[in-house]
Amino acid sequence: MRKMITFARPHQLLSPIGTNRPIINTPSPNNMSTLLYPSPIFGPVHSRRLGISLGINLMPSDGKVCTFDCIYCECGFNKDYIPRQKRPTREAVSKALEAKLRQMRQDGLLPDVLTFAGNGEPTAHPDFDGIIDDTVNLRDRYCPDAKVSVLSNATFIFNDRVRAALMKVDNNIQKLDTVDMDYIRMVDRPVKSSYRVEQIIAGLKAFNGHVIIQSMFMKGITEIDGHPVNVDNTGESYVAPWLEAVKANQAR
Ligand code: SF4
Repeated sequence: MRKMITFARPHQLLSPIGTNRPIINTPSPNNMSTLLYPSPIFGPVHSRRLGISLGINLMPSDGKVCTFDCIYCECGFNKDYIPRQKRPTREAVSKALEAKLRQMRQDGLLPDVLTFAGNGEPTAHPDFDGIIDDTVNLRDRYCPDAKVSVLSNATFIFNDRVRAALMKVDNNIQKLDTVDMDYIRMVDRPVKSSYRVEQIIAGLKAFNGHVIIQSMFMKGITEIDGHPVNVDNTGESYVAPWLEAVKANQAR
């Protein structure tokens, strides 16, 4: 298991190549800078971590669909951005991706990575596995040097079809901000009360090293539901057990 420690937002503020502006910046009820992505394809964007990244957003473009409701989510809170549109179909994703790759090839600007991210949790799409197959085929045809990356919150890793699909991608990037359930309930805010971090850690281990851990470490006090809350997870009491959980998995 590789570990990736993130000290900023998990989805960086990204600008379309050649511009300095975010993709879509919407007013937020909470005065946070909120960003919704076009669907199903956005960018390409410059990613500090990944290079020239062509984004694939499996959620609708007019809202957010996620099994977490992180207080730092750049897409805003779930309740404030309920989409009216449907998710793109597998066929729509494949068609749009092929058209974009063909255009990028003509422009002589091929991506370094095809990144599943956007307005929520990509593995929640009911055809996620088929979409990964299509994407790998298109990558092989148009830009064989590019990597396929998935940014996920790990809540679907027990679904056999999702797990098999994640084994086919180059960068299976899964979120684990901490192993403290109280902190997770306060900051990541899983939608389902049945979420158990011990199960997630066991599920990550079952990837046998084919996984990259992405974590958000924060310091400071913020306001949640009108109350000031200390969200510092950089102390020893948080980092030591998190490190144990990461080390318990096979490093790649
Ligand atoms: S896991 Fe979901 S709520 Fe959290 S930052 Fe990612 S998209 Fe936003």
